[in-house]
Amino acid sequence: MKPAKASPVPIARRGLMLVISSPSGAGKSTIARTLLAQDKQIGLSVSVTTRQRRPSEVEGIHYHFKSIREFERLRDSDALLEWAEVHGNFYGTPREPVEAAMAEGRDMLFDIDWQGAQQLQEKMSADVVSIFVLPPTMTELQSRLHRRAEDSEEVIAQRLSNSRAEISHWREYDYVIVNDDLDTAFDAVQSIVKAERLRRDRRHGIYDFVTKLLEETPAL
Ligand code: 5GP
Repeated sequence: MKPAKASPVPIARRGLMLVISSPSGAGKSTIARTLLAQDKQIGLSVSVTTRQRRPSEVEGIHYHFKSIREFERLRDSDALLEWAEVHGNFYGTPREPVEAAMAEGRDMLFDIDWQGAQQLQEKMSADVVSIFVLPPTMTELQSRLHRRAEDSEEVIAQRLSNSRAEISHWREYDYVIVNDDLDTAFDAVQSIVKAERLRRDRRHGIYDFVTKLLEETPAL
């Protein structure tokens, strides 16, 4: 009988704050959804927004939908870790779930724009890993927005015109991925997460592990 495979040595590490940004329609949300479904070590930061709920969206799962007054109350009481106005609506990241996840060494995914990414980098740069997703062409971006068919023509036009401004921030991210094939783009994101989890400075448990390792004296 084969000996049982040794279980991997558990080494405590800090949680990752994985930030994914892209212009609307570049595929960021699909990548995020797939990652959340396949990787149980990562949770989603559910944002608050004043945008109208789309038919396919569920309160508390995709967003916490708020009135402008409610949003302002959260913002003014410092309950948001970052916030921004995007396409004429307000969006923000609730502070408490992120702080809880980080304290427990859990990973979190943020589907936020460049303004939010900048704010998180400024506040928590050691924990942030940022990825920018680009569309293969602007024509493809436009047709993806139409295919989604969840926004009015006016909203689509606004999102397209804002996409150039969003793309102009690509240099502020740690990684840049061109999404011309979803499987390939997703593989790239998985590789990034895998490698970032192994970074020495994130694995505080590695110090004790190495100390113990060096204390071991194998019998000759
Ligand atoms: P959508 O309306 O398509 O869901 O999102 C519009 C944009 O707002 C996307 O680029 C999305 O990443 C961004 N966004 C969503 N939630 C937040 C948030 O909490 N903070 C910031 N800064 N941007 C967000």
